[in-house]
Amino acid sequence: MKALVVHERGGPFVMEDRPDPVAGPGEAVARVMACGMGLTIQHTRMGRGQGAKFPLIIGHEISAEIVEVGSGIDPDMLKIGDAVTCYFYITCGHCKWCRLNRPPLCANFKGYVGRQIDGAYAEYLKAPASCFIRLPEGLAYKKHPGEVAVLCDAVATPYKVIRRARIAPLEHVAVIGAGGGVGIHMVMMARWAHARVIAVDVVDEKLAKCREVGAHDTVNAAGGRMTEALLDLTGGHGVDVVVDFVSTARTLTDGIKALGTGGRLVTLGGGGGATPFEALGRDLLSKELEIMGSRYCTRQEVQDTLELAARGDIWPLVTEKCPFDAQAALTIHERLEKGDVLGRAALMIRE
Ligand SMILES: [Zn+2]
Repeated sequence: MKALVVHERGGPFVMEDRPDPVAGPGEAVARVMACGMGLTIQHTRMGRGQGAKFPLIIGHEISAEIVEVGSGIDPDMLKIGDAVTCYFYITCGHCKWCRLNRPPLCANFKGYVGRQIDGAYAEYLKAPASCFIRLPEGLAYKKHPGEVAVLCDAVATPYKVIRRARIAPLEHVAVIGAGGGVGIHMVMMARWAHARVIAVDVVDEKLAKCREVGAHDTVNAAGGRMTEALLDLTGGHGVDVVVDFVSTARTLTDGIKALGTGGRLVTLGGGGGATPFEALGRDLLSKELEIMGSRYCTRQEVQDTLELAARGDIWPLVTEKCPFDAQAALTIHERLEKGDVLGRAALMIRE
């Protein structure tokens, strides 16, 4: 098969001929149609994710068709010819957290498709069968392989946030980093949930797009006055929910200060470092604030997201379709690094 291989941390893509993968017991192989190109896998390419071993094929957001199933797989679960996408966390299925249906917290976590095992910037992807999720009838994956590919992460991750932060109709929801690949789908999802959505970013062009996809208001935080702007937009009360995809000490601090009574802040990004709890002051108690992390989602939340797209409630924003070419892919990744890609890009492997 043809595959885009990264040979060292931060290295370019090299188009190589690799042996077609063969499914072992409990595994399956899918022929990839398209693969989402986002910041998570750019982090992996740059060696910023834990556990990446080079040479490596990155990528996990797929539209694909199953071409081989290894031994031990119930055909009711997966069979040749199934149209699928990917659940990219490799989890054990039997620990306490898996049993509680919080698989991103798996106690025996084995890593990610496209980091600990080779991913989908290739004609074929081999993975544990439990990483494949069937597409519902009515989802036009052959017509829209790029859009369908990105549902499983860029849209499913925000769908989980709606539930995790208990976002209710009419609540004021600020999305920090709203112009990014996951952020813009958070804007759409919060609008779908009938919240009042305030998109926060630092690029006017991105904010204009946020309005197009459903944001009621926008804040350009480049001037450093995000908290004041969010207070102004809520009559001084503060927002009910802040969803922070940037999660630097600065955005977390400003986000916490913008929370109103009963407010919740969700962090999903950032490179770690100190969390500015001092910004909470006495408000954590007096306003019953909640600060929470959110990692990916459950398999059912991926399934729900696919269903929502199939019935037309939500549709991903794929602004760029990249040919299956090493230089073209590198150019997109260099722009991802700079935050220059609006919404999601997708690598079109087989249309
Ligand atoms: Zn587990």
